[in-house]
Amino acid sequence: MSEVSFKNLIKVKESLDTCFKCSLCKGNCPVSEQIFWATFSPRGKMLILRSLLRGQGTLTDRVRDSLYTCTLCGNCDNTCIAGISVTDVLAAGRRDLYEARKAPESVNSLISTIKESGNVFDLTKEDMDILGLNPRMKFSENADLLFFKGCYATYHSIPNESTMRSFNLLKTLNVDFTILEAEECCGSPAYLLGDMDTTKRFCEYNVSKIEETGASRVVTACPGCYRVLKQVYPQLVGTLNFEVIHITELLAEYIDEDRLVFKKTGNDKLDVLYHDPCELGRHCGVYDAPRKILESIPEIHLEEFDKNRDEAKCCGGGGGLTISNPNLANQIAQLRLQEAEEKNIPTVVTACPACQLNFSASKDKYNMKVKILDINQLVGSVKGL
Ligand code: SF4
Ligand code: SF4
Repeated sequence: MSEVSFKNLIKVKESLDTCFKCSLCKGNCPVSEQIFWATFSPRGKMLILRSLLRGQGTLTDRVRDSLYTCTLCGNCDNTCIAGISVTDVLAAGRRDLYEARKAPESVNSLISTIKESGNVFDLTKEDMDILGLNPRMKFSENADLLFFKGCYATYHSIPNESTMRSFNLLKTLNVDFTILEAEECCGSPAYLLGDMDTTKRFCEYNVSKIEETGASRVVTACPGCYRVLKQVYPQLVGTLNFEVIHITELLAEYIDEDRLVFKKTGNDKLDVLYHDPCELGRHCGVYDAPRKILESIPEIHLEEFDKNRDEAKCCGGGGGLTISNPNLANQIAQLRLQEAEEKNIPTVVTACPACQLNFSASKDKYNMKVKILDINQLVGSVKGL
């Protein structure tokens, strides 16, 4: 116990002391819907951390599992009657555990991989060539807009396809943009798992590379990259010389400017449910832009999940849960997808590669019929452009 300094938890002591133990935060927690042990609920996690900070608890394997059995989705923040940011407390607890080398082995292993290879998939640029993931197009050297791809879109074929469609769309719209040839992980996974040193290292590297290009806007299709670039980087290195936007915000802007117009094709309408990614929605407040895009496509009829916008349920793929408990991550996704099947809506659209991959894994595992699309895949395949 004394081996952990709790220097991060001390900073959120007031939140821990304020907790009423009312358990309202459990109401929309995706983990509590699957695991009924009180120690795995947000309230349970708060009480565990409070005990540890007061020197009254024991750091058992179950305690460590509880802290990392969480998607950091932020639904508990949204429902806490006392206005506590439970996720800030959980993040502080993870940092203390990681820094004291008490994080679960799966967490340490992923962070080692990211540190060594610069990406979460442990792949090299040569692997990308072999896998055919490198974009076959030329980029400007001095464009004002820089597309930050992120690990998922760079190294995994499914998000890579979505991002290539975004690249093609931007080219079709005559948008001058560039990419970082030597981009490294944005640092989001390390941030979520509690390793702030690695987060800072990636932050400093990427910021210096972006600044070398002179770009004034950085667009990304990954909400994890988006959040960490927009919210965390300024905390680590001060005000950035560039603006950070999500691809859905950029496309919504082009729709407002009549640069992006979807024409009627006469095809039947496709019913879709839009899933708000936690990192993009609850954590960054981007709800309208993706809906504006979907509502602008004449072939699309947009429907809503019962829980949407700031109440949207998590896909299960956040907070490192796919590493610490992949089965649970898939079960959480299944519950979300089940609603689409019950509503008889054939397609779920999201705006996040992590949601797209976790939903797809769950769909395959549970043999579900619903189709999973990233919004860029959908926009890039629309006939009426
Ligand atoms: S962040 Fe999400 S998964 Fe974690 S405790 Fe809160 S509601 Fe549950
Ligand atoms: S809702 Fe807020 S006050 Fe109530 S148990 Fe959860 S964290 Fe504590």
